[in-house]
Amino acid sequence: MRLIFLGAPGAGKGTQAQKLCEKKEIPHISTGDILREAVANKTQVGLAAKSYMDQGKLVPDEVVVNIVSERLQKPDCKKGFLLDGFPRSLKQAEELDNKLDELGLNIDKVIYFSVDEDEVVRRITGRRICSKCGENYHIESLKPKKDGICDKCSSELYQRNDDTAETVKKRLDVFKKESMPLVNYYKNKSLLTEIVANKSIDEIFNEVIEVFL
Ligand code: AMP
Repeated sequence: MRLIFLGAPGAGKGTQAQKLCEKKEIPHISTGDILREAVANKTQVGLAAKSYMDQGKLVPDEVVVNIVSERLQKPDCKKGFLLDGFPRSLKQAEELDNKLDELGLNIDKVIYFSVDEDEVVRRITGRRICSKCGENYHIESLKPKKDGICDKCSSELYQRNDDTAETVKKRLDVFKKESMPLVNYYKNKSLLTEIVANKSIDEIFNEVIEVFL
């Protein structure tokens, strides 16, 4: 099972990807998570990526393509994988196709999570994340049992640097310009399923599961 999750920031890709990967026991490859870890560890990639991320811009294609190419060659990807937040431009999609050809693999399905802009802004600005295990929360719709503390591992929750109202607007503009063309790209390859994601996490997950029936 080799999958891609597409969607605007805040469409719920990460939450759905975590749930599906747990169920199907495949690795969840989120370029955003990999880049945030690189920034936190101040690696060369992290230092190069930080200013783009803080401004809500895309990190240069060659940086992310290298990250994904290396990751896809790890042994755990043999049983499949889910790409979340990659590709994000036509150039990245073409590079991914080249890499998969080289590895003799192909993508089975692409799920596009569509959601309207007001809902995205509400979700992103209220999003809080566990500093240790990465679990997602929301200050109104997915509250932790204890304010600011992760239910799963009791670590502190934080707000991403790029989850502020100003940066969200920039990220949405970038999504429309750079990433929306991917919807047609994968539609033309007959790989795309659209899920309208203005619903609860469980309702959306039921629709995700149906895609694989
Ligand atoms: P995300 O967690 O997917 O919202 O990604 C957070 C930020 O990481 C984005 O706003 C970009 O700056 C960067 N990023 C993540 N994935 C990519 C990608 N495939 N291409 C370029 N930049 C990316």
